[in-house]
Amino acid sequence: MKFDLPTDEARGLVKEARPLLDGPIAAAVEEHRRGPGDEPHLEPDGSLAAHVRDLKRRVARLGAEAGLYAPHVSTALGGRGSSLRACMYLHEEVFLRGLGGQQWMLGWTDGPSPMVEVATERAVREFVGPLMRAEISTAFAQTEPEAGSDATNLGTVARRSGGDWVVTGYKHLITNAPFAEVVQVVARTEDGAYGVFLVPEDVRGFSRGPIQQTIMDDGQTGSLVFEDCRIPLDMVLGEPREGFAVPMRWVNWTKARRAGMCVGLARHCLDRALEYAGERYAFGRPVGSFEQVAYQISEAHRHTWATRAACDRLLEEIDAADPWEKPDAGTRANFAAIKLMAEECLLEAADVAVQVFGGLGLLKSTGLEHVYRVARNLRIPGGTAEMQRREIARSLGLLKKG
Ligand SMILES: Cc1cc2nc3c(=O)[nH]c(=O)nc-3n(C[C@H](O)[C@H](O)[C@H](O)COP(=O)(O)OP(=O)(O)OC[C@H]3O[C@@H](n4cnc5c(N)ncnc54)[C@H](O)[C@@H]3O)c2cc1C
Repeated sequence: MKFDLPTDEARGLVKEARPLLDGPIAAAVEEHRRGPGDEPHLEPDGSLAAHVRDLKRRVARLGAEAGLYAPHVSTALGGRGSSLRACMYLHEEVFLRGLGGQQWMLGWTDGPSPMVEVATERAVREFVGPLMRAEISTAFAQTEPEAGSDATNLGTVARRSGGDWVVTGYKHLITNAPFAEVVQVVARTEDGAYGVFLVPEDVRGFSRGPIQQTIMDDGQTGSLVFEDCRIPLDMVLGEPREGFAVPMRWVNWTKARRAGMCVGLARHCLDRALEYAGERYAFGRPVGSFEQVAYQISEAHRHTWATRAACDRLLEEIDAADPWEKPDAGTRANFAAIKLMAEECLLEAADVAVQVFGGLGLLKSTGLEHVYRVARNLRIPGGTAEMQRREIARSLGLLKKG
Protein backbone atom coordinates (compact mmCIF):
# COMPACT_ATOMS: atom_id res chain seq x y z
CA MET A 1 0.00 0.00 0.00
CA LYS A 2 1.65 3.16 -1.21
CA PHE A 3 0.93 6.65 0.08
CA ASP A 4 1.34 8.46 -3.24
CA LEU A 5 0.57 12.11 -3.92
CA PRO A 6 -2.15 12.07 -6.58
CA THR A 7 -2.04 15.52 -8.22
CA ASP A 8 0.51 18.10 -9.40
CA GLU A 9 -1.08 20.62 -7.08
CA ALA A 10 -0.58 18.36 -4.05
CA ARG A 11 2.96 17.48 -5.11
CA GLY A 12 3.75 21.19 -5.54
CA LEU A 13 2.56 22.15 -2.06
CA VAL A 14 4.37 19.24 -0.41
CA LYS A 15 7.55 19.95 -2.35
CA GLU A 16 7.53 23.53 -1.10
CA ALA A 17 6.73 22.53 2.46
CA ARG A 18 9.47 19.92 2.95
CA PRO A 19 12.52 22.25 2.93
CA LEU A 20 10.68 24.70 5.17
CA LEU A 21 9.74 21.96 7.64
CA ASP A 22 13.13 20.30 7.64
CA GLY A 23 15.06 23.60 7.55
CA PRO A 24 13.97 26.76 9.41
CA ILE A 25 11.02 25.18 11.23
CA ALA A 26 13.00 22.17 12.43
CA ALA A 27 15.72 24.60 13.57
CA ALA A 28 13.22 26.73 15.52
CA VAL A 29 11.76 23.63 17.19
CA GLU A 30 15.23 22.33 18.05
CA GLU A 31 16.35 25.70 19.41
CA HIS A 32 13.29 25.74 21.65
CA ARG A 33 13.92 22.17 22.79
CA ARG A 34 17.49 22.99 23.76
CA GLY A 35 16.43 26.27 25.38
CA PRO A 36 13.25 26.63 27.42
CA GLY A 37 11.72 23.37 26.14
CA ASP A 38 12.02 21.61 29.51
CA GLU A 39 10.34 24.40 31.45
CA PRO A 40 6.65 23.94 32.36
CA HIS A 41 4.46 24.32 29.29
CA LEU A 42 1.68 26.00 31.28
CA GLU A 43 1.67 29.24 33.27
CA PRO A 44 0.40 29.14 36.89
CA ASP A 45 -3.08 30.22 35.66
CA GLY A 46 -3.17 27.17 33.34
CA SER A 47 -2.62 29.08 30.09
CA LEU A 48 -0.02 28.02 27.54
CA ALA A 49 3.41 29.23 28.64
CA ALA A 50 4.92 32.30 26.98
CA HIS A 51 7.93 30.33 25.70
CA VAL A 52 5.67 27.86 23.85
CA ARG A 53 3.60 30.71 22.44
CA ASP A 54 6.78 32.37 21.20
CA LEU A 55 7.67 29.20 19.31
CA LYS A 56 4.12 28.91 18.00
CA ARG A 57 4.16 32.49 16.68
CA ARG A 58 7.58 32.05 15.12
CA VAL A 59 6.58 28.85 13.31
CA ALA A 60 3.27 30.39 12.16
CA ARG A 61 5.11 33.36 10.68
CA LEU A 62 7.53 31.10 8.85
CA GLY A 63 4.50 29.33 7.38
CA ALA A 64 2.89 32.65 6.45
CA GLU A 65 6.04 34.06 4.84
CA ALA A 66 6.24 30.93 2.68
CA GLY A 67 2.57 31.27 1.69
CA LEU A 68 1.76 27.93 3.32
CA TYR A 69 -0.07 29.14 6.42
CA ALA A 70 -3.46 29.43 4.69
CA PRO A 71 -3.13 28.36 1.05
CA HIS A 72 -6.87 27.57 0.90
CA VAL A 73 -7.69 31.30 1.07
CA SER A 74 -8.32 33.05 -2.28
CA THR A 75 -5.49 34.86 -4.04
CA ALA A 76 -7.42 38.13 -3.69
CA LEU A 77 -6.96 37.87 0.08
CA GLY A 78 -3.33 36.77 -0.03
CA GLY A 79 -3.77 32.99 -0.21
CA ARG A 80 -3.28 30.64 -3.14
CA GLY A 81 -6.81 29.44 -3.70
CA SER A 82 -5.57 25.89 -3.23
CA SER A 83 -8.08 23.05 -3.42
CA LEU A 84 -9.08 21.28 -0.22
CA ARG A 85 -7.78 18.07 -1.77
CA ALA A 86 -4.29 19.51 -2.20
CA CYS A 87 -4.39 21.04 1.29
CA MET A 88 -5.04 17.57 2.70
CA TYR A 89 -1.61 16.45 1.49
CA LEU A 90 0.10 19.56 2.80
CA HIS A 91 -1.50 18.94 6.21
CA GLU A 92 -0.52 15.28 6.07
CA GLU A 93 3.10 16.20 5.33
CA VAL A 94 3.20 18.51 8.33
CA PHE A 95 1.54 16.10 10.77
CA LEU A 96 3.68 13.16 9.61
CA ARG A 97 6.27 14.80 11.86
CA GLY A 98 4.06 14.48 14.96
CA LEU A 99 3.12 17.26 17.36
CA GLY A 100 6.52 18.74 18.11
CA GLY A 101 5.60 22.31 17.13
CA GLN A 102 6.02 22.21 13.34
CA GLN A 103 2.21 21.88 13.03
CA TRP A 104 1.89 25.57 13.93
CA MET A 105 3.05 26.54 10.44
CA LEU A 106 -0.57 25.88 9.41
CA GLY A 107 -3.35 28.33 10.19
CA TRP A 108 -5.76 26.20 12.21
CA THR A 109 -8.57 27.22 14.58
CA ASP A 110 -6.67 30.39 15.37
CA GLY A 111 -6.06 31.22 11.70
CA PRO A 112 -8.06 32.15 8.58
CA SER A 113 -11.05 29.97 7.64
CA PRO A 114 -13.24 30.25 4.51
CA MET A 115 -15.35 32.76 6.47
CA VAL A 116 -12.77 35.40 5.51
CA GLU A 117 -14.00 35.24 1.91
CA VAL A 118 -17.17 37.13 2.91
CA ALA A 119 -15.46 39.77 5.07
CA THR A 120 -16.33 43.41 4.49
CA GLU A 121 -13.64 45.72 3.10
CA ARG A 122 -12.90 47.03 6.54
CA ALA A 123 -12.74 43.54 8.04
CA VAL A 124 -10.32 42.52 5.28
CA ARG A 125 -8.08 45.47 6.11
CA GLU A 126 -8.21 45.27 9.89
CA PHE A 127 -8.64 41.53 10.46
CA VAL A 128 -7.99 39.28 7.46
CA GLY A 129 -4.70 40.93 6.38
CA PRO A 130 -2.97 40.67 9.79
CA LEU A 131 -4.41 37.17 10.25
CA MET A 132 -3.03 35.98 6.91
CA ARG A 133 0.40 37.28 7.92
CA ALA A 134 0.06 35.48 11.30
CA GLU A 135 0.56 38.83 13.04
CA ILE A 136 -2.58 38.19 15.06
CA SER A 137 -4.55 35.10 16.00
CA THR A 138 -8.27 34.58 16.29
CA ALA A 139 -10.87 32.34 17.94
CA PHE A 140 -14.19 31.05 16.67
CA ALA A 141 -16.69 31.50 19.48
CA GLN A 142 -19.93 29.66 18.90
CA THR A 143 -20.37 27.19 21.79
CA GLU A 144 -22.17 28.23 24.97
CA PRO A 145 -23.14 26.23 28.07
CA GLU A 146 -26.69 25.86 26.67
CA ALA A 147 -25.73 25.71 22.99
CA GLY A 148 -23.30 23.00 21.94
CA SER A 149 -24.54 20.49 19.37
CA ASP A 150 -27.75 22.50 19.30
CA ALA A 151 -26.16 25.73 18.13
CA THR A 152 -29.55 27.25 17.26
CA ASN A 153 -30.06 27.72 21.01
CA LEU A 154 -27.50 30.56 21.17
CA GLY A 155 -28.05 33.09 23.93
CA THR A 156 -25.46 35.58 22.63
CA VAL A 157 -27.16 38.48 20.88
CA ALA A 158 -26.06 41.32 18.61
CA ARG A 159 -28.38 44.33 18.50
CA ARG A 160 -28.14 47.46 16.37
CA SER A 161 -27.48 50.70 18.20
CA GLY A 162 -26.75 53.76 16.04
CA GLY A 163 -23.77 52.95 13.86
CA ASP A 164 -22.74 49.91 15.87
CA TRP A 165 -23.50 46.33 16.71
CA VAL A 166 -23.70 45.68 20.45
CA VAL A 167 -22.72 42.13 21.32
CA THR A 168 -23.67 40.53 24.65
CA GLY A 169 -23.20 36.94 25.74
CA TYR A 170 -21.00 34.23 27.20
CA LYS A 171 -19.04 31.53 25.37
CA HIS A 172 -17.16 28.52 26.68
CA LEU A 173 -14.90 25.74 25.41
CA ILE A 174 -13.34 28.14 22.90
CA THR A 175 -9.95 27.30 21.41
CA ASN A 176 -7.45 30.16 21.72
CA ALA A 177 -9.81 32.08 24.02
CA PRO A 178 -6.92 33.10 26.30
CA PHE A 179 -4.92 34.72 23.49
CA ALA A 180 -7.01 35.72 20.46
CA GLU A 181 -6.52 39.34 19.50
CA VAL A 182 -9.83 39.37 17.60
CA VAL A 183 -12.67 36.95 18.34
CA GLN A 184 -15.14 35.79 15.68
CA VAL A 185 -18.33 35.68 17.73
CA VAL A 186 -21.41 33.84 16.51
CA ALA A 187 -24.50 35.70 17.73
CA ARG A 188 -28.19 36.02 17.00
CA THR A 189 -29.62 39.35 15.86
CA GLU A 190 -32.93 40.81 17.01
CA ASP A 191 -34.66 39.72 13.81
CA GLY A 192 -33.59 36.10 14.30
CA ALA A 193 -30.64 36.02 11.89
CA TYR A 194 -27.22 34.62 12.81
CA GLY A 195 -23.99 36.44 12.14
CA VAL A 196 -20.27 36.40 12.88
CA PHE A 197 -19.10 39.56 14.61
CA LEU A 198 -15.47 40.59 14.98
CA VAL A 199 -14.71 41.61 18.55
CA PRO A 200 -11.18 42.91 19.21
CA GLU A 201 -9.63 42.21 22.59
CA ASP A 202 -9.34 45.89 23.51
CA VAL A 203 -13.02 46.73 23.12
CA ARG A 204 -14.84 47.79 26.29
CA GLY A 205 -16.94 44.99 27.79
CA PHE A 206 -14.75 42.16 26.52
CA SER A 207 -13.07 39.89 29.03
CA ARG A 208 -11.61 36.43 29.17
CA GLY A 209 -12.95 33.86 31.62
CA PRO A 210 -10.94 31.11 33.26
CA ILE A 211 -8.91 28.58 31.28
CA GLN A 212 -10.75 25.27 30.85
CA GLN A 213 -8.12 22.56 31.09
CA THR A 214 -8.91 19.78 28.62
CA ILE A 215 -7.72 16.20 28.15
CA MET A 216 -4.96 17.70 25.99
CA ASP A 217 -3.62 19.83 28.83
CA ASP A 218 -3.18 22.50 26.18
CA GLY A 219 -3.79 25.75 28.07
CA GLN A 220 -5.58 27.20 25.05
CA THR A 221 -9.24 26.51 25.77
CA GLY A 222 -11.39 28.89 27.78
CA SER A 223 -14.44 31.06 28.17
CA LEU A 224 -15.18 34.57 26.95
CA VAL A 225 -17.48 37.30 28.24
CA PHE A 226 -19.08 40.01 26.07
CA GLU A 227 -20.85 42.75 27.99
CA ASP A 228 -22.36 45.27 25.59
CA CYS A 229 -19.32 45.20 23.31
CA ARG A 230 -19.75 47.91 20.68
CA ILE A 231 -18.30 47.17 17.29
CA PRO A 232 -18.77 49.03 13.99
CA LEU A 233 -21.51 47.74 11.67
CA ASP A 234 -18.99 46.60 9.09
CA MET A 235 -16.82 44.53 11.43
CA VAL A 236 -18.68 41.38 10.46
CA LEU A 237 -18.00 38.35 8.30
CA GLY A 238 -20.81 38.31 5.77
CA GLU A 239 -24.22 39.82 6.35
CA PRO A 240 -26.10 38.32 9.29
CA ARG A 241 -28.79 36.12 7.82
CA GLU A 242 -31.11 33.26 8.52
CA GLY A 243 -29.47 29.95 9.27
CA PHE A 244 -25.85 29.20 9.87
CA ALA A 245 -24.41 29.69 6.39
CA VAL A 246 -21.45 31.82 7.52
CA PRO A 247 -20.48 29.94 10.72
CA MET A 248 -20.92 26.65 8.85
CA ARG A 249 -18.06 27.71 6.57
CA TRP A 250 -15.81 27.52 9.63
CA VAL A 251 -17.32 24.26 10.90
CA ASN A 252 -17.04 22.51 7.53
CA TRP A 253 -13.48 23.75 7.04
CA THR A 254 -12.65 22.22 10.43
CA LYS A 255 -14.07 18.89 9.29
CA ALA A 256 -12.12 19.00 6.01
CA ARG A 257 -8.89 19.73 7.89
CA ARG A 258 -9.25 16.52 9.88
CA ALA A 259 -8.34 14.49 6.77
CA GLY A 260 -4.68 15.42 6.39
CA MET A 261 -4.13 16.03 10.08
CA CYS A 262 -5.47 12.63 11.19
CA VAL A 263 -3.93 10.64 8.36
CA GLY A 264 -0.57 12.35 8.88
CA LEU A 265 -0.62 11.73 12.62
CA ALA A 266 -1.84 8.15 12.13
CA ARG A 267 1.06 7.49 9.79
CA HIS A 268 3.44 9.09 12.28
CA CYS A 269 2.17 6.71 14.99
CA LEU A 270 2.34 3.65 12.77
CA ASP A 271 5.81 4.45 11.42
CA ARG A 272 7.05 4.68 14.97
CA ALA A 273 5.23 1.52 16.04
CA LEU A 274 6.70 -0.39 13.10
CA GLU A 275 10.21 0.73 13.88
CA TYR A 276 9.88 -0.07 17.57
CA ALA A 277 8.34 -3.48 16.85
CA GLY A 278 11.53 -4.38 15.01
CA GLU A 279 13.88 -3.10 17.71
CA ARG A 280 12.22 -4.23 20.91
CA TYR A 281 12.92 -7.83 21.89
CA ALA A 282 10.84 -10.03 24.18
CA PHE A 283 11.20 -13.79 24.62
CA GLY A 284 14.29 -13.53 22.40
CA ARG A 285 12.40 -12.14 19.39
CA PRO A 286 11.39 -8.72 18.07
CA VAL A 287 7.89 -7.99 19.41
CA GLY A 288 6.77 -7.34 15.82
CA SER A 289 7.24 -11.05 15.10
CA PHE A 290 4.35 -11.89 17.44
CA GLU A 291 1.15 -12.14 15.43
CA GLN A 292 -0.90 -10.11 17.86
CA VAL A 293 1.49 -7.19 17.54
CA ALA A 294 1.92 -7.54 13.77
CA TYR A 295 -1.83 -7.65 13.14
CA GLN A 296 -2.53 -4.58 15.24
CA ILE A 297 -0.08 -2.57 13.14
CA SER A 298 -1.16 -4.03 9.82
CA GLU A 299 -4.87 -3.50 10.53
CA ALA A 300 -4.34 0.13 11.51
CA HIS A 301 -2.12 0.58 8.46
CA ARG A 302 -4.86 -0.78 6.19
CA HIS A 303 -7.48 1.50 7.78
CA THR A 304 -5.19 4.52 7.42
CA TRP A 305 -4.62 3.79 3.75
CA ALA A 306 -8.36 3.35 3.17
CA THR A 307 -9.22 6.53 5.09
CA ARG A 308 -6.70 8.49 3.06
CA ALA A 309 -8.09 7.18 -0.21
CA ALA A 310 -11.68 7.89 0.85
CA CYS A 311 -10.89 11.41 2.09
CA ASP A 312 -9.09 12.15 -1.17
CA ARG A 313 -12.19 11.15 -3.12
CA LEU A 314 -14.58 13.03 -0.84
CA LEU A 315 -12.49 16.20 -0.96
CA GLU A 316 -12.35 16.00 -4.72
CA GLU A 317 -16.16 15.90 -4.74
CA ILE A 318 -16.35 18.75 -2.26
CA ASP A 319 -13.95 20.87 -4.35
CA ALA A 320 -16.15 20.29 -7.40
CA ALA A 321 -19.29 21.41 -5.51
CA ASP A 322 -19.95 24.87 -4.03
CA PRO A 323 -18.93 23.84 -0.53
CA TRP A 324 -19.14 27.14 1.35
CA GLU A 325 -22.08 29.26 0.24
CA LYS A 326 -24.85 26.70 0.36
CA PRO A 327 -23.56 23.14 0.56
CA ASP A 328 -26.20 20.59 -0.42
CA ALA A 329 -27.02 17.56 1.72
CA GLY A 330 -24.51 15.39 -0.14
CA THR A 331 -21.67 17.87 0.41
CA ARG A 332 -22.54 18.24 4.09
CA ALA A 333 -22.53 14.46 4.42
CA ASN A 334 -19.13 14.33 2.71
CA PHE A 335 -17.68 16.76 5.26
CA ALA A 336 -19.24 14.68 8.04
CA ALA A 337 -17.86 11.42 6.64
CA ILE A 338 -14.36 12.88 6.45
CA LYS A 339 -14.51 13.99 10.06
CA LEU A 340 -15.78 10.63 11.31
CA MET A 341 -13.44 8.42 9.31
CA ALA A 342 -10.34 10.51 9.90
CA GLU A 343 -10.85 10.68 13.65
CA GLU A 344 -11.58 6.97 13.98
CA CYS A 345 -8.49 6.15 11.93
CA LEU A 346 -6.26 8.31 14.11
CA LEU A 347 -7.69 7.05 17.39
CA GLU A 348 -7.00 3.46 16.33
CA ALA A 349 -3.45 4.21 15.13
CA ALA A 350 -2.57 6.18 18.26
CA ASP A 351 -3.95 3.42 20.48
CA VAL A 352 -2.00 0.76 18.59
CA ALA A 353 1.22 2.75 18.83
CA VAL A 354 0.83 3.28 22.57
CA GLN A 355 0.13 -0.44 22.98
CA VAL A 356 3.10 -1.57 20.90
CA PHE A 357 5.43 0.66 22.92
CA GLY A 358 4.20 -0.99 26.11
CA GLY A 359 4.95 1.01 29.26
CA LEU A 360 7.08 3.45 27.27
CA GLY A 361 4.01 4.30 25.19
CA LEU A 362 2.42 5.80 28.28
CA LEU A 363 5.39 8.02 29.11
CA LYS A 364 5.06 11.69 28.28
CA SER A 365 8.62 11.65 26.95
CA THR A 366 7.64 9.22 24.16
CA GLY A 367 5.10 11.68 22.77
CA LEU A 368 2.60 9.04 21.69
CA GLU A 369 0.25 9.41 24.64
CA HIS A 370 -0.03 13.08 23.63
CA VAL A 371 -1.20 12.08 20.16
CA TYR A 372 -3.64 9.62 21.77
CA ARG A 373 -5.14 12.36 23.95
CA VAL A 374 -5.45 14.71 20.97
CA ALA A 375 -7.09 11.92 18.96
CA ARG A 376 -9.66 11.28 21.69
CA ASN A 377 -10.38 14.98 21.95
CA LEU A 378 -11.01 15.40 18.22
CA ARG A 379 -14.25 13.39 18.29
CA ILE A 380 -16.08 16.18 20.15
CA PRO A 381 -15.08 19.67 18.91
CA GLY A 382 -16.18 20.73 15.44
CA GLY A 383 -19.35 18.63 15.91
CA THR A 384 -19.48 15.35 17.81
CA ALA A 385 -19.27 11.95 16.13
CA GLU A 386 -23.01 11.53 16.75
CA MET A 387 -23.77 14.77 14.90
CA GLN A 388 -21.72 13.57 11.91
CA ARG A 389 -23.63 10.28 11.79
CA ARG A 390 -26.85 12.28 11.95
CA GLU A 391 -25.73 14.39 8.96
CA ILE A 392 -24.95 11.29 6.90
CA ALA A 393 -28.24 9.62 7.86
CA ARG A 394 -30.11 12.79 6.88
CA SER A 395 -28.44 12.87 3.49
CA LEU A 396 -29.89 9.38 2.99
CA GLY A 397 -33.35 10.69 3.88
CA LEU A 398 -33.40 8.68 7.10
CA LEU A 399 -33.86 11.27 9.83
CA LYS A 400 -36.16 14.22 10.05
CA LYS A 401 -34.88 17.67 11.07
CA GLY A 402 -34.88 18.47 14.78
C1 LIG B 1 -10.94 21.10 23.30
C2 LIG B 1 -12.19 21.72 22.76
C3 LIG B 1 -12.09 22.77 21.88
C4 LIG B 1 -13.25 23.38 21.40
N1 LIG B 1 -13.12 24.47 20.58
C5 LIG B 1 -14.22 25.14 20.22
C6 LIG B 1 -14.11 26.36 19.48
O1 LIG B 1 -12.99 26.80 19.13
N2 LIG B 1 -15.22 27.05 19.18
C7 LIG B 1 -16.46 26.61 19.56
O2 LIG B 1 -17.43 27.31 19.28
N3 LIG B 1 -16.61 25.46 20.26
C8 LIG B 1 -15.53 24.73 20.60
N4 LIG B 1 -15.65 23.57 21.33
C9 LIG B 1 -16.98 23.11 21.73
C10 LIG B 1 -17.45 21.88 20.95
O3 LIG B 1 -17.72 22.23 19.60
C11 LIG B 1 -18.67 21.31 21.67
O4 LIG B 1 -18.21 20.77 22.89
C12 LIG B 1 -19.39 20.25 20.84
O5 LIG B 1 -20.01 20.81 19.72
C13 LIG B 1 -20.44 19.49 21.66
O6 LIG B 1 -21.27 20.37 22.37
P1 LIG B 1 -21.51 20.11 23.93
O7 LIG B 1 -20.19 19.99 24.59
O8 LIG B 1 -22.42 21.17 24.42
O9 LIG B 1 -22.20 18.71 24.01
P2 LIG B 1 -23.78 18.43 23.88
O10 LIG B 1 -24.32 19.11 22.69
O11 LIG B 1 -24.41 18.72 25.20
O12 LIG B 1 -23.81 16.87 23.62
C14 LIG B 1 -23.72 15.91 24.69
C15 LIG B 1 -23.82 14.52 24.04
O13 LIG B 1 -25.11 14.38 23.43
C16 LIG B 1 -24.96 14.03 22.05
N5 LIG B 1 -26.00 14.67 21.26
C17 LIG B 1 -26.45 15.95 21.33
N6 LIG B 1 -27.41 16.15 20.43
C18 LIG B 1 -27.57 14.99 19.74
C19 LIG B 1 -28.41 14.57 18.67
N7 LIG B 1 -29.30 15.37 18.09
N8 LIG B 1 -28.28 13.29 18.23
C20 LIG B 1 -27.38 12.44 18.80
N9 LIG B 1 -26.57 12.79 19.81
C21 LIG B 1 -26.66 14.06 20.27
C22 LIG B 1 -23.58 14.58 21.67
O14 LIG B 1 -23.06 13.91 20.53
C23 LIG B 1 -22.79 14.28 22.95
O15 LIG B 1 -22.37 12.95 22.96
C24 LIG B 1 -14.53 22.91 21.81
C25 LIG B 1 -14.61 21.82 22.68
C26 LIG B 1 -13.47 21.24 23.16
C27 LIG B 1 -13.59 20.09 24.12
